[in-house]
Amino acid sequence: MSKGRILQKWSRRERANRRKKGVKEVVKKRNRLIALVLLFSLIFSLAAFAEEGHFVKVTAYDVNIRSGPDTETTVIGTANFGDSFEVISTMNDWYQVRVGKDAFGWIHASLVKAGTRFAAPNPTIEVVEANDVQVNVRGGASTSYEIVTTIRPGTRYPLLQRSGDWIQIRLPDERTGWVASWLVTTSENKAKSTAKSEQMQATVIADELNVRQEPALGATVLGTLQQNELVAVQEERKDGWTEIEYDGRIGYVASEYIRLPGHSILQAESRPVEAGLAQVIVKEQVNLRTGPGTNFPVLVSGRAGSQFAVTAKSGAWLQVQIDSEKKAWVASWLTEVQGSLDGVPEVHGSLDSGLRGKTVVLDAGHGGFDVGAVGRQSGVFEKDLNLALARTLYNKLLTTGARVVMTRDDDSFVSLDDRVQIAEREQADLFVSLHYNTHADANISGSMTFYYSENGADHQLARQAQQELVASLGLPDLGARFGDYYVLRENRVTSILVETAFLTNQQDEWSAKEAGHQELAAEGLFRAIVSNLQEQRE
Ligand SMILES: [Zn+2]
Repeated sequence: MSKGRILQKWSRRERANRRKKGVKEVVKKRNRLIALVLLFSLIFSLAAFAEEGHFVKVTAYDVNIRSGPDTETTVIGTANFGDSFEVISTMNDWYQVRVGKDAFGWIHASLVKAGTRFAAPNPTIEVVEANDVQVNVRGGASTSYEIVTTIRPGTRYPLLQRSGDWIQIRLPDERTGWVASWLVTTSENKAKSTAKSEQMQATVIADELNVRQEPALGATVLGTLQQNELVAVQEERKDGWTEIEYDGRIGYVASEYIRLPGHSILQAESRPVEAGLAQVIVKEQVNLRTGPGTNFPVLVSGRAGSQFAVTAKSGAWLQVQIDSEKKAWVASWLTEVQGSLDGVPEVHGSLDSGLRGKTVVLDAGHGGFDVGAVGRQSGVFEKDLNLALARTLYNKLLTTGARVVMTRDDDSFVSLDDRVQIAEREQADLFVSLHYNTHADANISGSMTFYYSENGADHQLARQAQQELVASLGLPDLGARFGDYYVLRENRVTSILVETAFLTNQQDEWSAKEAGHQELAAEGLFRAIVSNLQEQRE
């Protein structure tokens, strides 16, 4: 019992460590960033020669690059759709990327796609622009689908795919939708690094804004800016002032009256809270999301000090009222809660409704002296890949409200019998053992999933896991199969053993070591586990 609880603490500890690190980071000078960005584009003009390395490609708009793997760390820059970055390392759901010769930043995995090496540093993407004043964007590729939103000329949207006369586009809030091809113009759009210099400009959002000589209210006024005027930002300071260039000299404006392109997501305004209701005060600039987890899109951002009434809770996430109609979710650890949350209703999203009260045991195969398979090309140990995958999957499952127990959360040896004991002692609903495969024939590539009991829950879970894993990873489908493994045979809990890819196959091994691989594999297994547990409940 105690062991499971210790293992569960892993994520919290990790999060605390990351937070500590983030706080230590110093605010980076904006103008230094411009230099980095220029350097970055230079490096990428040479990148065609540097074929080695892993890259991620940005798949969202105005993506923050941060000083650490945590949304609480400083934003050191932004990236745009289509930008690609060399991956230096990964931590949980974050990629550390190169933004300059010796400069690095962190991007959240949900905002990029990883896996392949991109031949072109800035891949050309096709974009879509409305021809008409108002073009409907629909949920599917025909007029029978509901209208999701409308688009107007002047804004171009990334083209995702075509289906007949219809085109799927990506919307700025990361949703997708379909437009009729006869109502839009498509063109090639080079993701341009030149746009970066424009990003250092902020827009004045107050009617009039004083520029002061010093970052203080009483300081001499150098001049006044009008609404919608653009200012060149030197540094966004932590004290609520932004250093700008004004008439060839340095001046200061109140940060809350300007908007940086990187912060182009709307700010939620503080809402007066009725007496007696629980409320949160945002400790630092935070993302307010459409759902209770970092996997949900950002709806608006909340400035440090903003206050919102709490309307619901889901695990460690709080739903808050951001205007008279809209609600959004914020991570409770980024806020200060005032009043009692006891009366606040606990809600379960559609995703977690089947998972609360469920227990999943994740079993990272091998460990310690038992390294498992060894990558033929790189010498990578299977035990390390298994653990990385287990941790990624662990984080995903935690957001659903399920209880997740790891049979090991570090590089230690755990006997097969102990692994089974943990599953039974924790009265797990599912046991998922994670492995990488080997084969004498180096040509064999793909994913496979093993079960022990032919009829029943094991087989069903194996089928689901195999299907989702293949759909997500895209490796050959070697099927869900019977396997006489100790952790399956001796286990009374519904159990499967996943062989994610072959470390004896050059391509599989290469893929397994890619930064985005764990994310994709975990995503597939996550979907399978969620639907399996939801079915169990029905
Ligand atoms: Zn193994």
